[in-house]
Amino acid sequence: MNAQLGQVPERLVAPKRAEEDAAELALRPQTLDDFIGQKQVRENLKIFITAAKSRGEALDHVLFHGPPGLGKTTLAQIVAREMGVGFRATSGPVIQKAGDLAAQLTNLQPHDVLFIDEIHRLNPAIEEVLYPAMEDFQLDLMIGEGPAARSVRIELPPFTLVGATTRSGLMTRPLRERFGIPLRMIFYEPAELETIVQRAARVLKMQMAKDGGAEIAKRSRGTPRVANRLLRRVRDFASVGGNATVDAKVADAALTRLEVDGRGLDTMDRRYLACIAENYGGGPVGAETLAAALAEQRDVIEDVIEPYLMQLGLLMRTPRGRVLSEAGYRHLGIAVPKAQRQQFDLLTGTPEEEG
Ligand code: ADP
Repeated sequence: MNAQLGQVPERLVAPKRAEEDAAELALRPQTLDDFIGQKQVRENLKIFITAAKSRGEALDHVLFHGPPGLGKTTLAQIVAREMGVGFRATSGPVIQKAGDLAAQLTNLQPHDVLFIDEIHRLNPAIEEVLYPAMEDFQLDLMIGEGPAARSVRIELPPFTLVGATTRSGLMTRPLRERFGIPLRMIFYEPAELETIVQRAARVLKMQMAKDGGAEIAKRSRGTPRVANRLLRRVRDFASVGGNATVDAKVADAALTRLEVDGRGLDTMDRRYLACIAENYGGGPVGAETLAAALAEQRDVIEDVIEPYLMQLGLLMRTPRGRVLSEAGYRHLGIAVPKAQRQQFDLLTGTPEEEG
């Protein structure tokens, strides 16, 4: 578990799961009451779980959507635990054939949770198999080919499908509408992340000063997975530097060396912002163009980089493309070009003083 210095994942603040995040397992909250943040999601789940249990029924199908690393998988496991049922997990791209899905479904016990991560990447032909399974707990499978092909119907136990997606917009409408409980996950508040960091520090037996936890929290992109990863990196720096207690100074020194800036942006985020400012005059510029210019996958840009920059107000998404905001220029330390400034003045209606 003791990660070595230098073994940093490709991108330290990447909210996607990385190999070394196996250490996450120990940090996963186990119950709804242990789960910090996402108050509305938690409260809704509590009501629906209590109601389903009191009726002795399977919980309705649940869809979590939101950026990676916010706790969708964790909550899916918590749902199963709170319902007192079994949990099986798979993911959209892994299910290649209808038979793969059938195998998962026919292995379920009554009321079990089947978790499908990245459900927007499910093959459309497999989605069709999922519809009657979700609605009527029936599986219609074609056996054989050509004129000899026949369809067989298999009865399934009532179960709960829990789907997770970073892009509910990419899901087909019929699939989205079959989830009775859609829940949106939002970025965490710094205070919530601070609690998460302090809890993780206790699990890792680290001595963490209050201001140390706060420093890591505010640089964690609103994302618990990033918070836990930064915490482990800071621990490495602290132990190599002989600091028994992690305070704000120790955390700041470590994160600055790791090139995570005061608001949690890393080199990739700054490269993205600078690309819009310097190559495209502040925008508007399309996601596809930016992906090509930065040699990044469009998915990564849209799912991972942009949501947080928009949350901070550094970036705006308009119908004509991405536009750097005034705060975006300020973050880069670049003066707003005259033409852009006029645009901003038009938008806000108040001419800004020269800054
Ligand atoms: P997702 O499925 O949305 O990508 P995960 O459920 O895998 O995210 O969560 C990533 C990690 O972040 C988990 O291992 C867990 O340690 C931590 N985590 C997520 N949400 C919370 C939370 N609310 N409180 C504490 N830790 C959390």
